[in-house]
Amino acid sequence: MKLYLTRCSVIDCVGDALQPFAATVVINEGRIEKIDPTGEPPPGADVLDLGGAYLLPGLWDVHCHPSLMIPDPQRVSYFHTEAERTLLAVRNTSAALRVGVTALRAVSEANFIDVALRETYANRQPSGLWKKGYDDKRLFGPRLFCAGPAIRITGGHGATGRIDTLYLQEFIEADGPEEIRKAARRCIKMGVDWLKLFITGGIAGSRESMYEVQMSEAEMEAACEVAHNKGLKITAHTGCSEAAKIGVRAGLDCIEHGYELDDEACELMAEYGVYYCPTLSVTQDEAYMRRWEWPEYSIQRALAGAELHRRSFERAVRAGVKIVNGADLNPIAETAIPEIEWVVKAGFSPAQALIASTRNPAEMCGAADRLGTIEPGKLADLIAVPQNPLENISALREVKLVLKEGEVVVNCLDR
Ligand SMILES: [Zn+2]
Repeated sequence: MKLYLTRCSVIDCVGDALQPFAATVVINEGRIEKIDPTGEPPPGADVLDLGGAYLLPGLWDVHCHPSLMIPDPQRVSYFHTEAERTLLAVRNTSAALRVGVTALRAVSEANFIDVALRETYANRQPSGLWKKGYDDKRLFGPRLFCAGPAIRITGGHGATGRIDTLYLQEFIEADGPEEIRKAARRCIKMGVDWLKLFITGGIAGSRESMYEVQMSEAEMEAACEVAHNKGLKITAHTGCSEAAKIGVRAGLDCIEHGYELDDEACELMAEYGVYYCPTLSVTQDEAYMRRWEWPEYSIQRALAGAELHRRSFERAVRAGVKIVNGADLNPIAETAIPEIEWVVKAGFSPAQALIASTRNPAEMCGAADRLGTIEPGKLADLIAVPQNPLENISALREVKLVLKEGEVVVNCLDR
């Protein structure tokens, strides 16, 4: 079944200097078959007239936690069950798809809920009766790249109390290279695509600091070796330069947050081809923090790091580190696009910001052969917006069309 998207202003995200061009985009069996600047669809063809709207690759958010409550000063989530968390995660991720986020990387999620979502949204039903019942009734959600629960040292980042959640495994605690290897292998056994480590404390917690290097070089190396031996990638929550330098040399593929990164750390990341997901919202978005009732001490600590965080982002960009966007906040549908606005406010051009939300994350996740740009042969994960995001990045807030693998998930082009 072919679908013709006519009168598109295509922003393909292929090069670095993006320029919209008029075309008809032909989709066949979920893939982009042709990008035709002149052709008309044949009579009787299935047509969606975009009326000049801007057609882009679907957006990625590569730092999310589909079911997590951050922060959770009252420890409400202590009593959450796996079923409750799973439902939260379904709502959160499916809502994200409807605003144009067609792919997510979950980097720490309880009980491998992310892996279950990945399989469900990919419509990989179990065989037998369930397959018969659901094969043609898809549950739509974004593509997921999953890390399962993050691996941390005993009492490491995020340990706000002496006890863990009652029904959930949100983190795997492991100490020493041998335990770390075992934890990493367990995650792989459960079906993850990535591993996630916590190698420093966080910025907003009351009992830890982002300058605290929590994992030893030998522990990081052990985790990286297990991931890479299996062909997987590995990332780490990283507060400061010191940890980033150890982590990059140990083999990390990506650095999260990097609140404090000096020139040496940035140059090392560029040299090793390590991606950087700055999650700027975490320290910049005070309105969000107040709206979601962060405790005052967390707000003050986050804001105190805001300037430092922006400087680190600037240094990384100057050094040539590849940036990928992810907000690290919930709900994803409300925070993914503001994060793209934050990187623009911090100095990115709209084109650079778009590439950090499309082509770069697809490359980082090893999916550049099928996702991340509008090119023939790629999967048709596409969005359309009426205004030009290269002129004003906030145009992304008004998504009128979402396609996932050629299937229409949202269409309000007429409204
Ligand atoms: Zn996070």
